[in-house]
Amino acid sequence: MSPQTSLQITDISKDTDRLMTIKVEDLKPLPLDHVAKQPGPIPQAVTDKFVCITDDIQVLPVPVPKNRQEEEELVNKFLTGMRKLFTPEDNWTFLNLLEMSMNYCAKCNTCSEACHLFEATGGNEMYRPNYRSEIFRRIYRKYVKEEPLAAWRYGDIDLNWRTVARLGELSYRCNLCRRCAQTCPVGVDNALIAREIRKIFSQEMGIAPTEVHEKGSMLQLKTGSSTSMTGDIAKDNVTFLDEDFSEETGYTFNTPWDVEGADILLIHNAGEIMAWPDNVAAFSLIFEAAGLSWTMSSELAGYDSINYGVWYDDVQFARTALIHAQVAKKLKVKKIVLGECGHAHKALTVIADRVLPADLRIPRESCFPLLRDIVMSGRLKLDPARNNFPVTLHDPCNYVRLMGIVEPQREVVRKIAPLFREMTPHGVDNYCCGGGSGFAIMHRNNIGDWRNNISGRKKLEQILNAFSDCRGTETKKYVCAPCSNCKGQIRDMIEHYGLLESENLWYSGLVELIVNAMVEVKPGFIKWGME
Ligand code: SF4
Ligand code: SF4
Repeated sequence: MSPQTSLQITDISKDTDRLMTIKVEDLKPLPLDHVAKQPGPIPQAVTDKFVCITDDIQVLPVPVPKNRQEEEELVNKFLTGMRKLFTPEDNWTFLNLLEMSMNYCAKCNTCSEACHLFEATGGNEMYRPNYRSEIFRRIYRKYVKEEPLAAWRYGDIDLNWRTVARLGELSYRCNLCRRCAQTCPVGVDNALIAREIRKIFSQEMGIAPTEVHEKGSMLQLKTGSSTSMTGDIAKDNVTFLDEDFSEETGYTFNTPWDVEGADILLIHNAGEIMAWPDNVAAFSLIFEAAGLSWTMSSELAGYDSINYGVWYDDVQFARTALIHAQVAKKLKVKKIVLGECGHAHKALTVIADRVLPADLRIPRESCFPLLRDIVMSGRLKLDPARNNFPVTLHDPCNYVRLMGIVEPQREVVRKIAPLFREMTPHGVDNYCCGGGSGFAIMHRNNIGDWRNNISGRKKLEQILNAFSDCRGTETKKYVCAPCSNCKGQIRDMIEHYGLLESENLWYSGLVELIVNAMVEVKPGFIKWGME
């Protein structure tokens, strides 16, 4: 039996250097001439400070315990947090769903077949969705519920500091895409379990990846945005984009700011303003051309929809969701519309229902039905011939699988992109881009290697297969990926595998494709790379 298939649940507690090393030769082959490299080493300065005993990646910065007392502290804090997780006072947000996922697993392993990480690694036990969950269940029964004969009935587990550190790290070997949850015959949600483990670490132990916490939630709550842009700067930047893109497109538009009583408050992921300004400009241009009553807000966080708490911490999640709703209430808008950002959709339109008081429950909607209505209404003059290149559509997990928004974006693409082709599978069965749950914004140490080679592997295979009839440089190809985080991951893979040069492959969102087809706009809104 190979090491990757012989790993046991009880190995999680063992005094070994690594739980497992992922070997690149075990990875599922790609339809691409590319030789994967073993992830680079983690710098000594990092391993001296933070625990790295799971695989060869380090995402969660658990400080290395210096003595027996610190080892015990790590275990005790984890147990305290875990006990709170199972009380209604401390976990009224997710307790019912969590208990269901604790009590009803049939061990059928259907979830493993659904998981792109398990598949990409050639069936590595460590990445089996239920590996992490089963460890958590055994701890729960033995140490939290203290069930008599728990070890005998369900299997034993030794809870030491290595178990805790590795379980925390394994909660960050999951994209929280919920593809496994969708296939589970009894409704167990392995993504929720991973997310709740992350929550113990953040809320009880003060340990979270810097990208989502210090540079994410904390920066947003302090400055208004994880980009550190204040409202005034965001407004200045977008005003500059209006001028720039009005000149480039030949279509003059001005983004409205802080308009009281507007029908729509549009909130982008502010990362778009910096990384994909054409997305922000395209929204403004379309909304103006469609004659909508809308506004953006320069209030604290009113211009940045990110809410990273949705991946790791209920407290930070609630603080951010409340600010977003308060901004809308103050402006007296009829509804909030979220731009192309999947996790922001999940945060503000779905999970926020669990934390917003009644007076802050302003209607919150996705941009996709609205964009569909605009395109189908005939308000924009569109020429599909301008999009005369093969297009495929990535389905971001949060609004497709979680929210069921499957058709609106497809109706648009079918109308304006004559060479559209689906990925296999697609819709609610589609695969995560590999950047979900915070990974897309992580570049620390060798996390990028992990994303490009493992978590994004299945998505890359899907993309290449969707264009199997037009591979090579001759034909320009476009991946429509209408989500900030997914775009970041797809951008990184295009760069890592040199796919712009070898495949003429580019990516961007849905609104860019719409503007590219608008007759009143100069041709060539979408640019492949630096062209
Ligand atoms: S599919 Fe559901 S019941 Fe089957 S092993 Fe996975 S979590 Fe358990
Ligand atoms: S949520 Fe996605 S990444 Fe996580 S275990 Fe399930 S299928 Fe795998």
